[in-house]
Amino acid sequence: MGGRIPDDLIQKIQDQNDIVEVISGHVQLKKSGRNFKALCPFHSEKTASFYVNPDKQIFHCFGCGVGGNIFSFLMKYNQMSFGESVKVLAEKKGISIPKSFFASGQNSGLARSLLDLNETASHYFAHCLKETREGQIALSYLEKRQIRKSTIEKMRLGYAPLKRDGLCLAAQQKKISLSLLERAGLISPRMNEEGYFDYFRKRIIFPIFDVTGRVIAFGGRVLDDTQPKYLNSPETPVFKKSAVLYGLNFAKDDIRKSGSALVVEGYLDFISLYQAGITNVVSSSGTSFTEGQVRALRRLAKEVILVYDPDAAGTAATLRGIELLLREQLQVRIVSLKDGFDPDEFIRKNGKAAFLAAVNEAKGFFEYNLERLLNLCDVKNLNGKVAVVEGMLPWVKLVENSIARREMIKQISERLNIEESDVMEEFNKLSQRGKPLAAPEGVFPNFSLDAEGSLIKLIFEKEDILDEVKKEIEPSDFYDGNLRQIAEFIWRYGRDDKLPSSKSLINFLPEEKTRDILTFIILNKTVFHDEAKALRDCLEYIKKRKRLKRQKELEKEIKLAEAKGEDETIRRLLSEYQNVVKER
Ligand SMILES: [Zn+2]
Repeated sequence: MGGRIPDDLIQKIQDQNDIVEVISGHVQLKKSGRNFKALCPFHSEKTASFYVNPDKQIFHCFGCGVGGNIFSFLMKYNQMSFGESVKVLAEKKGISIPKSFFASGQNSGLARSLLDLNETASHYFAHCLKETREGQIALSYLEKRQIRKSTIEKMRLGYAPLKRDGLCLAAQQKKISLSLLERAGLISPRMNEEGYFDYFRKRIIFPIFDVTGRVIAFGGRVLDDTQPKYLNSPETPVFKKSAVLYGLNFAKDDIRKSGSALVVEGYLDFISLYQAGITNVVSSSGTSFTEGQVRALRRLAKEVILVYDPDAAGTAATLRGIELLLREQLQVRIVSLKDGFDPDEFIRKNGKAAFLAAVNEAKGFFEYNLERLLNLCDVKNLNGKVAVVEGMLPWVKLVENSIARREMIKQISERLNIEESDVMEEFNKLSQRGKPLAAPEGVFPNFSLDAEGSLIKLIFEKEDILDEVKKEIEPSDFYDGNLRQIAEFIWRYGRDDKLPSSKSLINFLPEEKTRDILTFIILNKTVFHDEAKALRDCLEYIKKRKRLKRQKELEKEIKLAEAKGEDETIRRLLSEYQNVVKER
């Protein structure tokens, strides 16, 4: 699995990168005893079961069972190969890896080709924006929107010209395969005739980045009133729309530091806020907020502040967003910008300070909804009051804390000037009607260590017992396939009392499941009160099981020999059988 990068270089990169530093770049960690704890980034949960252990430099989630070291974390989090994760961490510490280790082998694969192609295409679009006459029109449009040159560079904005095969021709000149370009969603086959046409035409191009800054797709915006206003790349093997937040690669550090994230709708909203110095912001890129996006934010922030357009579509997106965020246990606030401005217009006309003031006044989801409904319904008559109550109660139901819920019911009744007990009665009716709210909790495996797991744990905890263990059993004596694999690597690399650390062993284990099980065993809280006795018990158990297995095999073999009348064989087998039975 180490590819062609030498093991000692991998070791050096691993030693210089601290796991707490690496993971806290993506997940909000909280100190918990000797460990760090967080809500797991790999499954949905309400109580933290994701543990990072700085001493051992490994992590494990006791909710979904995922575990590993710094490389495994990045592989899983960024969907990278092992080689790519090594490269990222080497670059972080200024360690150079000779280019030859990244020869064709590790760069092959469709995903890699598509990422390379997107990179090339983004240069083509940037060229069209800056170096062509048509691009000048787009540039002056951006200028009018007060987007600075430095921002255009940083966000790598581009322009797709009107010509219907501009990118096709440019690609052909560079000998890029058109079918790959089609896989990347950048060109489409022509109807009723040979050839292709460009997917993006006469649009400002926003490269869409993954969290590490690689171009995974593009968004295109028209300069006039043509519909659709925004066009995004179709889904490809490297672009899963529903999980991407535009700008997260730029904003992630500031979101983590501030613990809160502003979410806007459009690319330009993001860009205007970011260039004004409001940097804990991302864009849900036009589409309505998705669970995948919420989960990406939950890894970094406790609170999400929605700043959507005040029109009907924006309000609908806000309501859906609130619900998703509440279900993921995030705090939600909603900014309502004055005069019907979207965030881009607002900050251009009123400036950063006014925008921050509006954020300061952002309302909680309860207040926001109550005010929205009070504006919508005529509460002077009974029907209006009933409509507000019915509109509010599903929101109250989303709140888990019963004290908070009661307080909300009290506020509803006060604002409508009706009896609290009546609202409560309606609420109880609603609770009984609907299905239970509790979101499925991550399955907690009720898994205590058996003899084989305990033995592996003991080997890592007491470094000088391996030779003794090796004298008594072999990896093939392990019954569990994953543990057998772990044992094989321990037996192979652990010589002369020098056992590889669990964090390095992980690099050799080829299967994800095996790595998960190793981190589970290492970070599992099992305490051995008498380690020597525990060791004896584990070995005895494994050996006894081995004998029982041999006993059964011998019984079969003896029966077979008897049927064939092979007296000599029967005698030999019987004597072995007696020895096995005697050992018990
Ligand atoms: Zn998990």
